[in-house]
Amino acid sequence: MILSVLVDALLPRSCASCRTPLSRRPEDPVGLCPSCREGIALVPSPVCPRCGQPFGDDDDPTCRRCATRPPPFRYLRAVFVYGGTARDLVLRFKHGKAFALSRPLGTLLAAVAAREGLLEGTDVVVPVPAWPPRAVQRRYSPPALLARVLGRRTDLPVDARALARVRAPSADGHAGPRARAGRVAGAFAVRRVEAVRGKRVLVVDDVVTTGATAAEIAAVLRAAGATRVDVVAVALAAPDAV
Ligand SMILES: [Zn+2]
Ligand SMILES: [Zn+2]
Repeated sequence: MILSVLVDALLPRSCASCRTPLSRRPEDPVGLCPSCREGIALVPSPVCPRCGQPFGDDDDPTCRRCATRPPPFRYLRAVFVYGGTARDLVLRFKHGKAFALSRPLGTLLAAVAAREGLLEGTDVVVPVPAWPPRAVQRRYSPPALLARVLGRRTDLPVDARALARVRAPSADGHAGPRARAGRVAGAFAVRRVEAVRGKRVLVVDDVVTTGATAAEIAAVLRAAGATRVDVVAVALAAPDAV
C-alpha cells in the first residue's frame, strides 16, 4: 500500500507531450503515452558526420552543404527529428514544463552525446544562452537546465556563464537560412574567455533549426580560443522544413 502510493507519486501522471492521463508506467524515459511514442522520430542513421542531418552512406558520408562550406563546429547531433510529438514536447519543455522535462531530455542528450563520441576529451559543457529579458521572465533558461542534467550524468563541468546573448533574437521565425544566418551574426559573445580558451567545448541547445545559431556560437567560441566545438540538441529540423 505505502509502496504503491510512493510509486504513484513518483510516476508522471500524464503523458509528457499530450497530457493524456497514464494508467501505467510509460515504457520510455520521457514519459510518453503509446500514441505519442509512435509519433516521435529519432534522427535516423546514417547522418552527415558534421551537421548530423540524415544523409549519405559509407562511401559518401558528408552532405554537400558541409562539403562545400564546412561548419565551424566539429559534430552536431540531435536526439529527435523536429516535428510531430518531438515538436510538442520541445514546446512544452520551453514553455511550461521545463523542470519536469529537463531530467529525461537531458539524460537522452547525454546518451546521444556518449554514443556519438561527443564526450571524449570534452573539457566543458556550455548551454546556448537565452536572451536576458526572456530568462528573467521565465526565471530559467531551457538549454541551461538541459546542460545541468547532462553535466550531472557525464561528470563534466558546466559553465552557463561562458557565453552571453548580446542581441535580441529575431521575432521572425520563418526567415530562410541565409536571412537567419544574418540575424544571428553578432548575437552572441564569450563572456568568460578563460572558461573556453584552449578548451574542447560541448554546446547544448534545445532545438536546432537552420543550424545558424549553432554555427554562430561555434565561430564565436573558436575565435575566443576553443580548440574544438561540438553541439548536441534535443531536436533537429530538416533543412527543407524551415
Ligand atoms: Zn501523449
Ligand atoms: Zn552536413
